[in-house]
Amino acid sequence: MADAAVRTIMNEFRTGIGYDIHRLVEGRRLILGGVEVPFQRGLLGHSDGDSLSHAITDALLGAVGLGDIGALFADTDPRWAGADSRIFLSHVAGLLAERGYQIVNIDATILAERPKMRPHINAMQAQLAETLGIEPARINIKAKTNEGLDAIGRGEAIGAQAIVLIAAEGRH
Ligand code: MG
Repeated sequence: MADAAVRTIMNEFRTGIGYDIHRLVEGRRLILGGVEVPFQRGLLGHSDGDSLSHAITDALLGAVGLGDIGALFADTDPRWAGADSRIFLSHVAGLLAERGYQIVNIDATILAERPKMRPHINAMQAQLAETLGIEPARINIKAKTNEGLDAIGRGEAIGAQAIVLIAAEGRH
């Protein structure tokens, strides 16, 4: 009975949530959602430090029940040193497709005191959509400051949150 119930669930809709944060440092490019944002500092990380792409990757992995980004792309693996995080997104999109799932929608929030994100949101949306092989209308990206509070508010880091809905083929 329980197995049948699980199978039914697997044939319907699933959600996933993702969160990531990287430290802002001198001497790095700032990459968010696969887009370079002009700024005097960038995000420190084993890969390109794209916290938005990492949060979305984790949300997609969570939705399909495959753990998290660290399990698939270890930050000790030299293959991912300086990696373009779009590699992670496109790989995970492939894992979803292999399992018969499609992305219904992604909603994400960038948490950054500076720089202003609004001028770059459309480019991020387009880049993420292309990388994931979905229509841009399925992705919504927002940006908020932390009102001067905590490490993000002091401009020491940029974080991101994401939530996704995926559906078995033919269900949306
Ligand atoms: Mg990360």
